Amino acid sequence: MILVLLGPPGSGKGTQAKRLVKERNWPQLSTGDMLRNAIAEGTPLGLEAKTFMDRGALVSDSIAIGLVDERVSRPDCENGFILDGFPRTIPQAEALDRILLKKGRKVDWAFLFEVDDRELVRRLSGRRTCPKCNAMFHVDTMQPKRDGICDHCGAKLIQRPDDSAEVISKRLSVYHDWTSPLAEYYRRQDKLIALDATRAANEVNQAISAALA
Ligand code: AMP
Repeated sequence: MILVLLGPPGSGKGTQAKRLVKERNWPQLSTGDMLRNAIAEGTPLGLEAKTFMDRGALVSDSIAIGLVDERVSRPDCENGFILDGFPRTIPQAEALDRILLKKGRKVDWAFLFEVDDRELVRRLSGRRTCPKCNAMFHVDTMQPKRDGICDHCGAKLIQRPDDSAEVISKRLSVYHDWTSPLAEYYRRQDKLIALDATRAANEVNQAISAALA
């Protein structure tokens, strides 16, 4: 099964993707995580991506498509995978369809995570992230067991540079301008499943499971 998780930053795509990884054993393909890893490793691609990411802009379609094209060819993607944060533009969605078609595969479902902007700002501004294992916490609603420390790997949590107030509003406007048209793209293919993602993570998880069943 190939799933696309579509939705604004802070809508819970990463959280749900991680649950699906555990439940179904499909890998999570997060272009954001791939780019942050490239930045941490100091690769030329990472250095180029950082200037866009730090100001909340999208990296070029060719970079994002190249990352996914390489990743979906790996053996662990054979039984299915979860795309989190890709595609983010119509050209990316079209490229994905072409990449998969060459392999005789296709996107099965695109889940649209619906959350209003006010709630997204609240979530993103309080979000704390583990730079090592990419786990996410929230200062009010999902506190780690030990203050500032990742429950899973013990690394020190950070606030992502793009979770600052100024960059959050830029990322939301980028989402509305470039990514939200993808809902129509998948609706036309009869693949769109819209979810009320303001609910608790458990309820969203149940809604996804019910839809997949
Ligand atoms: P995310 O972790 O998905 O919120 O992504 C963080 C940042 O990485 C975004 O604000 C973009 O700058 C960049 N990024 C991640 N995925 C993509 C993509 N598919 N296309 C373009 N830029 C991306």
